[in-house]
Amino acid sequence: MKEVIRYRCDHCNEVFANKSYTLKHEEICYWNPKTKSCINCENFIPESQSSGYIRICTKGINLTKKLKSACIKHKENEEQ
Ligand SMILES: [Zn+2]
Repeated sequence: MKEVIRYRCDHCNEVFANKSYTLKHEEICYWNPKTKSCINCENFIPESQSSGYIRICTKGINLTKKLKSACIKHKENEEQ
């Protein structure tokens, strides 16, 4: 038996086997406030509260296919 090391993202708690991959993931992780992503944004509407097929935030940015990072409309959510 061999003991192995795993790396956990500081932001979303996802676990990876590869250290450099984990560092790269942290740079783009939606939960990292530095990425200015939807998850930490005041304008974000969670999936459970949005209706219909097309998802938009309160600023009208389309998030249907993918949540956004480095968004110009990003506003830090102060509740989190
Ligand atoms: Zn992460």
